Amino acid sequence: MITAVNRPAALHINVAAIRENTEQAKAHLKPGQKLFCVVKANAYGHGAAKLAPVMEEEGADGFCVAMLDEGLELRRAQIVKPIIVLGLQPAEQAPLAAANDISLPVSSIDWLKAAEPLLRQEGLQLKIHLAIDSGMGRIGFSEEGDFKAVNAYLKDNDAFFVEGMFTHFASADSSDSHYFDYQVSRFKKMESLLTVKPKWIHVDNTAVSLFDKDVDSDIVRFGIGLYGLNPSSAPGAEDLTPAFKLTPAMSFTSELTYVKQIHKGYGVGYGSTYVADSDEWIGTVPVGYADGWIRKFQGFQVKVGDVYCPIVGRVCMDQFMVKLPKEMPIGSPVELISDNPDAPNSLRKAADWLDTIHYEVACQLNDRLKRVYD
Ligand code: PLP
Repeated sequence: MITAVNRPAALHINVAAIRENTEQAKAHLKPGQKLFCVVKANAYGHGAAKLAPVMEEEGADGFCVAMLDEGLELRRAQIVKPIIVLGLQPAEQAPLAAANDISLPVSSIDWLKAAEPLLRQEGLQLKIHLAIDSGMGRIGFSEEGDFKAVNAYLKDNDAFFVEGMFTHFASADSSDSHYFDYQVSRFKKMESLLTVKPKWIHVDNTAVSLFDKDVDSDIVRFGIGLYGLNPSSAPGAEDLTPAFKLTPAMSFTSELTYVKQIHKGYGVGYGSTYVADSDEWIGTVPVGYADGWIRKFQGFQVKVGDVYCPIVGRVCMDQFMVKLPKEMPIGSPVELISDNPDAPNSLRKAADWLDTIHYEVACQLNDRLKRVYD
């Protein structure tokens, strides 16, 4: 994909905000805990290769990614700290991971049996994290018998180094701790079956850390909070108050490339879903659904100059239109997303508009958009 460097449209990443959020996450650790910054999905759309070194400077002890390719990107960016892949990879990737000192999760004994000869062939040892499905229903051991068998398999097996054991919570961002407590007890039961001793046992994500949930974890896998966003901000859900102030890091700007007056009865965009009911000024912005600025944004308010203006008509592939209060000059600045959490066009408000979570909005703004590090 081409990044449009010449187009007047950019995602701005406030590096000072990333520094502050990382520094605070580090300061909030319990004694002995380590901070692993979750930079999967290109640091939730903010730019992993650019920001991981910044996080390292602010005290990150390691990094988490979703897949091996993302880990390799960090190694290419000269990151030497530990990297844990959180999602399952094909066993054939075990030697590549081991050769780059990247740790992989394990969810079945069959995976180990498939990876072991490949590792031995190349004289490599792989660092692994035993995934436990304590109630997320995604990856990990959930049957005690399977977990006992994998422990026996790993005993004195020098093709693998058991670096970790972990689980992931389905509802750590909720004030109702019922399901969270259930997951903790299931995880503890599995932990009691360990016969190999992992270096780190870890369960914390941003929510567990920021809402001070009572559970032990050697590592905090801190993700969304690094980007200044509250993990509990789901549509319709109550927002829990984080232990420290989060500073959003992403904003999105462009400008008007065309301005025209239309008259009563004139349609705007595909399907003419908007029809002017009087003389109106319409501005065109050079961003569209091919950038991840999806059609559901129709009706959302973006800021043109100092005024909030609704998006009218369907968002096109590469452009969208706004209704202006008056004639405004071509080149007028347009703020699609504000990094002010209280603004009507904050990432959170955009997520509410789309009936989703801000994680998804940040991740869907794709690589056609240039990212500028301010
Ligand atoms: N740990 C695991 C296994 C995850 O899948 C994720 C994110 O999806 C995280 C940690 C980080 O979560 P958060 O961004 O809510 O901190």
